[in-house]
Amino acid sequence: MTLTVRQFACLFDNYGFVIRDEASGLTACIDTPDADAVLAELAAAGWGLDFIFNTHWHPDHAGGNAKVKAATGASIVGPAEVTKIAPLDRRVAGGDIVDLGETRFAVIDAGGHTLGHIAYYSAADHVAFVGDTLFALGCGRLFEGTPAQMWASLQRLAALPDDTRVYCAHEYTAANARFALSVDDDPTLKARAEDIFAARRRGEATVPTSIGVEKATNPFLRAPRLAGKPGAPDFEAFATLRAAKDGFKG
Ligand code: ZN
Ligand code: FE
Repeated sequence: MTLTVRQFACLFDNYGFVIRDEASGLTACIDTPDADAVLAELAAAGWGLDFIFNTHWHPDHAGGNAKVKAATGASIVGPAEVTKIAPLDRRVAGGDIVDLGETRFAVIDAGGHTLGHIAYYSAADHVAFVGDTLFALGCGRLFEGTPAQMWASLQRLAALPDDTRVYCAHEYTAANARFALSVDDDPTLKARAEDIFAARRRGEATVPTSIGVEKATNPFLRAPRLAGKPGAPDFEAFATLRAAKDGFKG
């Protein structure tokens, strides 16, 4: 049970991922932010493509589906909402299992950024592909869902083992760090933010992150501690922080 992950930058600040189950040789890409970039990465790896796994319907995630499928014959798996912009071969939702050879992904309901957003988690490989739900030091904007829905989704991800590698779909980390520092003076966060700013000055990716690191430093996962009110539900603290981030000019 070995899963190889190749991560590549594309569009303005997206990350694409092509993955291979080494036992079977079966391959997949997580979303299709830029069809040409996905196809170039596959060519560089010398891989064909068996599946497209979509996380949500946004064009920088499913917009390349048609071109990638036409070029490779890949079968498209994703949440029903993707059919707003492209056909699916298989619809999945939270609780379903998606197998890639011997690699078994649990589909996790990650709604909030979009209503039907999902994440793909392999317990054996300690990896989660979370799309635009959880970012390094951040989380996705609430374009469609409610704060309560997004908070529940983030809690499902936070419940994964600490050593789970988290592959998020954008390099938003430096901007997220500036907001995090504006609401939290935790020393662990400060040290991480310095590492992030230095990595970005060197042009290095800050993705993947891990569940353990995010639980310790991500302000949205720490919302009850940072913005909670006695007796109020935790998602209200989350909503307060999410609204502050939406208006943050850092
Ligand atoms: Zn999105
Ligand atoms: Fe996106």
